[in-house]
Amino acid sequence: MRRVKVWPEVWPLRVPFVIARGGRSEVGVVVVSLEEEGLTGIGECTPYARYGETAASVQAQITSLLDKLEQGMTREQLQHALPAGAARNAVDSALWDLESQKLNSDLWRLTDVVRPVSVEMAQTVSIDSPEVMASGALALWQNGARLLKIKMDNALITERLVAIRAAVPEATLIVDANESWHSEGLAARCQLLADLGIAMLEQPLPAAEDAPLANFIHPLPICADESCHTRESLPQLAGRYEMVNIKLDKTGGLTEALALAAAAQAAGLEVMLGCMLCTSRAISAALPLTSGARFVDLDGPTWLAQDATGALDFRCGKIVLSEGFAQ
Ligand SMILES: [Mg+2]
Repeated sequence: MRRVKVWPEVWPLRVPFVIARGGRSEVGVVVVSLEEEGLTGIGECTPYARYGETAASVQAQITSLLDKLEQGMTREQLQHALPAGAARNAVDSALWDLESQKLNSDLWRLTDVVRPVSVEMAQTVSIDSPEVMASGALALWQNGARLLKIKMDNALITERLVAIRAAVPEATLIVDANESWHSEGLAARCQLLADLGIAMLEQPLPAAEDAPLANFIHPLPICADESCHTRESLPQLAGRYEMVNIKLDKTGGLTEALALAAAAQAAGLEVMLGCMLCTSRAISAALPLTSGARFVDLDGPTWLAQDATGALDFRCGKIVLSEGFAQ
């Protein structure tokens, strides 16, 4: 019989994290542990208010499965027992972790993906004045980051992006508006981004109002984040987006995320891999998806004042995987 535990944790941030929806100074996560045969699988998720989730609602969802989990519920059964979202991700991740340990293996081997020595990833510049954003971008560039993700709201677009581009002329820049822009003037705004050499624009319009994206030829790729949760989202994205941002907290875990990545690529969409604010536990569960992703955006733990035990080796702009890893 499995022993199941579920608990919330609050992790303070090193500095405030500001996006179009507002700022925050800490992140609440929910952790699941599954103990079986002397082994313990761990999974973590970040409940997200944008998707109607709280730590309490996510804990309640997981607790509703307690009996079945204790009796050995499988990952396949889990996919039908909970909807896509943070709760299913925490359990799915814990089941993958338990499976890895039982087989004396790891996620790379279980998913048939070759483990790289390191993974290049984006470092995020959160919303501030043009000057502060530009100096923040320059500091990340000087510390080794080559891909920067610029958070944006609906103000000072030109001022902020021109200042940042001037500070880091050679950096690859991606912009995330988190649904804060409007369809009026969007084509011109996209042209501005293209002229500044921005490599991609993430979720400019609200998910429920993204139809106007089909009305003009995009001068740069547009990526669906809030508009793309699982494979069920894909039919609505055609003609509007060229890329999808896959996050385990949206797909409800690696199981559906792998299926979504394959289906998206088969539909001609490029893949980006993202995360919520979280600890290394949540990032570890997503690592096999870095293979085949055009952009990897897994810097959540770098915003924490302190990461969880067994933290991944984050350097500025990359995760180093080669050291201290059991073969
Ligand atoms: Mg996003």
